[in-house]
Amino acid sequence: MAEELNPFKIAQEQLDEAAKIMNLDETAHKILREPMRVIEANIPVEMDDGHTEVFHGFRVQYNDARGPTKGGIRFHPQENIDTVKALAAWMTWKCSLANIQFGGAKGGVICDPKKMSEKELERLSRGYIRAFGKFLGPKVDVPAPDVYTTPQIMAWMMDEYSKMAGRDEFGVITGKPLEDWGSEGRFNSTAMGGMYILREAARLIKLDVKGATVAIQGFGNAGSFAFDLATKLGAKVVAISDSIGGVYSKSGLNFQELAEAKKKTGSVQGYAGASKISNAELLESDVDVVIPAAIEDQITEKNADKIKAKLVLELANGPVTPQADKILFEKKIMDMPDFLVNSGGVIVSYFEWVQNLYSYYWTIDEVYQRLDKIITASFNSTIRTQNEYKDRGIKITPRDAAYIVSVDRVAKTMKTRGWY
Ligand code: GLU
Repeated sequence: MAEELNPFKIAQEQLDEAAKIMNLDETAHKILREPMRVIEANIPVEMDDGHTEVFHGFRVQYNDARGPTKGGIRFHPQENIDTVKALAAWMTWKCSLANIQFGGAKGGVICDPKKMSEKELERLSRGYIRAFGKFLGPKVDVPAPDVYTTPQIMAWMMDEYSKMAGRDEFGVITGKPLEDWGSEGRFNSTAMGGMYILREAARLIKLDVKGATVAIQGFGNAGSFAFDLATKLGAKVVAISDSIGGVYSKSGLNFQELAEAKKKTGSVQGYAGASKISNAELLESDVDVVIPAAIEDQITEKNADKIKAKLVLELANGPVTPQADKILFEKKIMDMPDFLVNSGGVIVSYFEWVQNLYSYYWTIDEVYQRLDKIITASFNSTIRTQNEYKDRGIKITPRDAAYIVSVDRVAKTMKTRGWY
């Protein structure tokens, strides 16, 4: 039977597996299998030619036991409720693993931002807040950027929310531009966090990051900065891709030239002096580290067996399916789970929120130091948990271990709050 690729079913399956291993209380498990609240809305937007289009939007607030729900908003043509639910669940585990004072949420709009003008995007962003604003707030639910949403979009959304509230509410949303009281370091924090995990994971498997070969799937906010930062660490990025396709060069790719090619031609495939490859080939290339940094369901039961890397760093949300997880584990490929690897984004979002709430701002060095401390602690508790189970003769994946740490925290908070 072909593997089920419904992201929410996958999220539930991952939770079920962790629940079984950790012997999770049945009621806690029942609560955590489903989102706390699901909101949908239809958003009318006037297009530049004068006609009105109606866009369908979602906001899923998964669990708020540990704090206001937190998570990005995606603008994507294939957006759907099951993906948003899955991503909201993963945000819950992500914030809990990082031990920051947030629950989990996610939002989305079915639209194709590449086909929309700046003004249309602004009207859609403001429309989203008019539709969902009453369910948001700095102490309620705090959105952020995600696939195809930008700091500019966050600024419009914060502005619209502030207008509705009748006062400035900078802390209602994170990932804002610096001008609108965003945080230093937020722009590349997802990739930066991923690099701290690269450093720790490489140390564990005795891989020298200097000179290590890397393939990155995706050239958006996560992938492009990961390229830049990995290169600065001395690694050699030999393959990169975007939604159109990828390029490969054994001697390594040049970040500046690649960014220019992308800008000029619309794809990394416009890069001269490298061979063109597909997204599938990129994942299977002969490298030390593979970084899926685009979208979900990229390494599945179909291709997991062909992965040659020693280390997989999940910088995207949900790129590796449960069947693929098992195959990678059997092949002794170290697979670092998404809600650990990409948690740098929400960790610095948390810093942004804290700074907004007390109106006092940190330097970029302070941000990176604090990020390093939190994400390295998450890595250590994941590996420690994996080893504790190993000592008891139970072999579990790093993902299972990370789930155990985070689910245990949410369950304990729900318990002491008296939810079950
Ligand atoms: N969208 C990012 C994520 O999936 C960041 C979320 C946030 O900063 O709230 O982790």
